[in-house]
Amino acid sequence: MDYSNSIRHWQYLILFIAAGILFSKCAPAEDEIEVFCENLQEYIETLSSNEFEGRAPSTPGGEKTVEYIEKHFNRIGLTPAVNGSYRQTVPLVEITPSNISDLQVRGSGSEMSFEYHDEMMVNSVRLGKEEVKLDNSELVFVGYGVNAPEYNWNDYENVDVEGKTVVILVNDPGFAIGDEELFTGHAMTYYGRWTYKFEEAARQGAEAALIVHQTEPAGYEWNVVSSSWSGPNLELDAERETTPVLVEGWIQKNVAEEIFQKAGTSLQELSEKAIQRDFTPVSLDMTASVSFNNSYHTSESHNVIGYIEGSKHPDEYFVYMAHWDHLGKVETEEGEVEIYNGAVDNATGTAGVICLAEKFLSLEETPERTLVFMAVTAEESGLLGSRYYGENPVFPLPSTVAGINMDALNVYGPTHDVSVVGYGSSDLDNYLREHARAQNRRIEPEEHPERGYYYRSDHFSMARHGVPMIYANGGSDYIGRDEEYSEMVAEDYNSRYHMPSDVIHDLWNFDGLHQDLWLFFSIGEDLANSDNFPNWVEGNEFRAIRDETEHKRRR
Ligand SMILES: [Zn+2]
Repeated sequence: MDYSNSIRHWQYLILFIAAGILFSKCAPAEDEIEVFCENLQEYIETLSSNEFEGRAPSTPGGEKTVEYIEKHFNRIGLTPAVNGSYRQTVPLVEITPSNISDLQVRGSGSEMSFEYHDEMMVNSVRLGKEEVKLDNSELVFVGYGVNAPEYNWNDYENVDVEGKTVVILVNDPGFAIGDEELFTGHAMTYYGRWTYKFEEAARQGAEAALIVHQTEPAGYEWNVVSSSWSGPNLELDAERETTPVLVEGWIQKNVAEEIFQKAGTSLQELSEKAIQRDFTPVSLDMTASVSFNNSYHTSESHNVIGYIEGSKHPDEYFVYMAHWDHLGKVETEEGEVEIYNGAVDNATGTAGVICLAEKFLSLEETPERTLVFMAVTAEESGLLGSRYYGENPVFPLPSTVAGINMDALNVYGPTHDVSVVGYGSSDLDNYLREHARAQNRRIEPEEHPERGYYYRSDHFSMARHGVPMIYANGGSDYIGRDEEYSEMVAEDYNSRYHMPSDVIHDLWNFDGLHQDLWLFFSIGEDLANSDNFPNWVEGNEFRAIRDETEHKRRR
């Protein structure tokens, strides 16, 4: 504990005692946090109310949410970003698989069959394929399935996987050896994310890609895969840069072990080879077959986007974003309707976008660069709204200076620390550090960099196009609270995460939200009045695209 902290703790004690004398029922003392936004609570209460029905995209509750955000953007005076409208239409398609066969693996004189759900999960996001049939496609083990020039690593070198089924390990080689000698060591890079592995397999022309599930490197148990991969799947109803592989899927670890053993090798042996720089893919001399039907239901949802034109550099942009959608409602077997109100996730961030816009519009002097305020749809279905924006940007991405994404803000009170997801990846850490210091706060790396949270919310849809993005939040060192409190609220957060119980409740303290919004505001204000273009650090996986697109800046 440093000196200033101990002084502050004395102050708390005195305040605490004084409050105890004055009031019979006293609240814990806190540093006074100035209110950032008068209407913050009202916005969050409304967005998370039952009336909004859990804000699922393409539902009446979703439409109500879009109208609500539009109404406030309009009231506070933001300029509509899309031909006089705040709405960017996001085309969606719900894909529902049925008649899913077992996964058949044949070869080396044997025939194995693995069951959907318990042993393997498959789907197809290739559009317009009512009958999906993978027919005796050769199985090739491709290690981590990574092609990463900045780490001098290419698992696909000297191999042709056209039409084949690639079998891939989860996470990246750095995680496997736990040393920064490879990739970023324990912290996950985008090359470790399963979404990347399917994308790369498609670029390589593979027909199918199966990821071997292992709990530790994945960061979650098989049941997370099987539940999130079953049933209807929402996708963008838009062409992708690369046609996706026909079949994407996961197999359980023991399934891989069985297949590899029949192929005369083992998962362990191949995993050891896969962390060698000279690894080359191994054909398993076996084939995979699986079939199912897909039905498609198209719909539309909307990103809501407004802006404040910069006074000096209107062609350069700073972005604030947050997803407005959540999980909607379900009817239980007993016939009761359960609403996923999504108060933390993400009424807080959505309210934050409106509040920040309001604050910038109240300034006497308009900032030099343009400020963009964006509430995006369908994050919970795989960052779809932001992905659509990234692929169809309203404001050119090379000239988008940087941005801040707000997803599930801190509702447990003000903190001494700011937890930074993706810590160390860009120059933006310096802005965070400096502006946090002005609040008497410090920045800290996220607690679990191996889980790849940086690739799991909407800022990633900007980052992958090269735009440096901040994803940070009040940390776990709560002002005037002990460790027990921070453990208790962490548990509270986890128990409500993606559950109908994510509502405003007794533990909520809006001061932490105001504190973080002040921080996000001052960073945006700083960059909006600067000439700087922050970049990714050398060696970061998004650096190359930023550097490549630099010449497209208009200035
Ligand atoms: Zn969220």
